[in-house]
Amino acid sequence: MFIKRDHTKLICDVGEIAGLFHDAVSMEEFLQKITAMVTRHMGCEVCSIYLYYAGRQELVLRATTGLNPASVGKVRMAVAEGLTGQALREKRPICEGQARHNPNFRFFPGIGEEKFESFLAVPIFRGNVEVGVMVIQSEKKDYFSPEDIQAFRAITAQLATTIETARLLITLNDKKEKTPVALPQEVKFVRGRCGSEGVALAATVVISETVTDLRHDGTAGGERYSEADCRRAIEETERQLEEMQLQLEATLPDMTALIFTAQILMLKDKGFCDAIFHLIKGGVNPPSAVAQVVNDYVSKFSRIEDSYLREKIYDVKDVGRRLLENLTGRARAHGDYEGKIVVARELFPSDALKLFSQKIKGIILLSGGATSHVAILARSLNIPLVITHEEALLFLDPSTDVLLDASMGSIYIDPDPLVKAKVLQRDELNRNLPALKKMVREHPQTRDGTAVRLMANINLLGDLKAANEFKADGVGLYRSEFPFMIRSNFPSEDEQYLIYRRLVEGMPGKEITLRTLDIGGDKVLSYTHYSREENPFLGLRSIRLSFKHTDVFVAQLRAMLRAGAGQRIRILFPMISSLDEFLQAKAIVQECVQQLETQRREFNPSPLLGVMVELPSTVEIINEMAQEADFFSIGTNDLVQYMLAVDRTNDSVAPLYLPHHPSVLRAMKRVVEAGLKHAREVSICGDMANEPKYLSLLLGLGIRCFSMDARYLPRMHERLRQLSVSECEKLAQEILAQSQISRIAQILESVRYPA
Ligand code: PEP
Ligand code: MG
Repeated sequence: MFIKRDHTKLICDVGEIAGLFHDAVSMEEFLQKITAMVTRHMGCEVCSIYLYYAGRQELVLRATTGLNPASVGKVRMAVAEGLTGQALREKRPICEGQARHNPNFRFFPGIGEEKFESFLAVPIFRGNVEVGVMVIQSEKKDYFSPEDIQAFRAITAQLATTIETARLLITLNDKKEKTPVALPQEVKFVRGRCGSEGVALAATVVISETVTDLRHDGTAGGERYSEADCRRAIEETERQLEEMQLQLEATLPDMTALIFTAQILMLKDKGFCDAIFHLIKGGVNPPSAVAQVVNDYVSKFSRIEDSYLREKIYDVKDVGRRLLENLTGRARAHGDYEGKIVVARELFPSDALKLFSQKIKGIILLSGGATSHVAILARSLNIPLVITHEEALLFLDPSTDVLLDASMGSIYIDPDPLVKAKVLQRDELNRNLPALKKMVREHPQTRDGTAVRLMANINLLGDLKAANEFKADGVGLYRSEFPFMIRSNFPSEDEQYLIYRRLVEGMPGKEITLRTLDIGGDKVLSYTHYSREENPFLGLRSIRLSFKHTDVFVAQLRAMLRAGAGQRIRILFPMISSLDEFLQAKAIVQECVQQLETQRREFNPSPLLGVMVELPSTVEIINEMAQEADFFSIGTNDLVQYMLAVDRTNDSVAPLYLPHHPSVLRAMKRVVEAGLKHAREVSICGDMANEPKYLSLLLGLGIRCFSMDARYLPRMHERLRQLSVSECEKLAQEILAQSQISRIAQILESVRYPA
């Protein structure tokens, strides 16, 4: 038999795809190069790539060698049509010796197909995902043999992932493309979980995970720029970043550290700038030079695969984007994100802060749990946040309006006007400050007169406003780690003192509970270089880190003691797993007290010292602990995670994250009993305290102190007034007698409250 083509060589050449990718200045050009390579090796005249767009169930010609290049982007066909559509529909190659005689052949005028006889279409799939169809054609009749079909299928399979990536990038970058790639038209609504309540209506911006998007941005338009333009753009970018820093300081006084330092430093970095100017001197157009250097940095960081360094990737991309905008004159006054709902696969708390400073409206996150710290921070920043698994949202068309009804976990894509009106109206009511203020009482108590403390959790100093407005009875938990997370180094004792003092003075006469550093898990510091931890929640987290860095721990304790001068303060130690650890922490406090005394500093010598009950190991020794601790605070976010072995940040196990699991409730009961026996206050400061549905149960278990996000105080005041302790105790008894989660859920569901 006559061998027309050497298929072994063809498969080998596919190995050169990476090279094609690297040289191509756009995804379109990359696909084009693939078609040229395939025609060469298949010995035919035509190779075309059609990409599939699920939203419209349409195939679009994206690259061709041999047909009229002007048809690219214009030839579109429904999958129900033609031989090309048939290949995708039936998931098999369609080979025709004289295609034009097949009644299914779809003829497009102007495309230049008339003269081609043989036709071979092979669908491109990645797993089950339909990517598109690759077609080859020849002028000769009956040209393609069974070996050709086999070889062509093999090559298509090898290219599927790369072509799919190209399709995503084209769609992300193609401003004209109005329909999302992977979001089927019928997806109008996505149900997620609430991470931070609130409502937002805006267009979306997807934080790209790919590094190649800058390549496209850099060369768009094709204008030439000079070296001087590039220098000006660098200066302008620096100025903008400094301005953003100042604005942020004005809104978030505890965030005085330069959170944009990393980005400003990059612009000052000789290595970074030299690399750009080196390329420019070699004839590369400045936007491409910037894109190339930024991409190099990003890929270097990506290769390290150290989650602690991912924050840097965000910084590099962000500075690159900003620089390109300033260079090409496509800069917007406040960056890409202002007024948008940000969609991201993953975010760090410091990313949330940066986005906040860029005035975003909301966040859709494809990872993390409702008790993850980025969600906690979003609540303090008043940014609605929904967590979902819906990957298709990553491909939302930027012009699509999305309505985020975060309290309900609802995401409406291109919302119906009626839904929009209803949700916005409810939001209006929720924001009605005078009405909310009316719901709170100076001395909250139950219907039958039991006094209950309703305190506030403070993450940022900005939370104090709501805490005061809603009459919080002090601060039950100050998460001191947030100011640490956005700095580029450990804050000094004096810096910390200023922040803690503002906190203490922010609630004069009230009790303030300062928790020591709880870093680790999902809260990472970019400036500590620990080796990567496989299980960060079980690693060097929290008090363990404080013991490892006693200098940092001592500085923090001294700052807290000094800030507490003349006020009632409590110091709370997180993640205590043994009596030994608590005694060690107490001893270090004592050392600090002695130091401050010797130095004749003004400070509080006798703060109450408490244990956060977050680990099952502490529950087991709770009576002994009660003899040493002045108070307990139950951190249900971690207690649930560690008792049930369910990662609080992993949305895929979220249905197993159940605060009402009988083991958790019985553990809490034991803590309350130990507290009663030793006259120690037991409070609850995890997210369970935010939930009205748990209040009756927790009161019934004997808890009388709740610390919650300040914004939830009004609804908890209101619920408290509806409850009577005797009824709550009956409910708790009934629930504690149950051993099945489902039964407890049923009982909780059936509780009715007076209007
Ligand atoms: C908790 O674990 O419940 C808690 C309040 O601490 P954090 O959420 O900061 O870990
Ligand atoms: Mg915790």
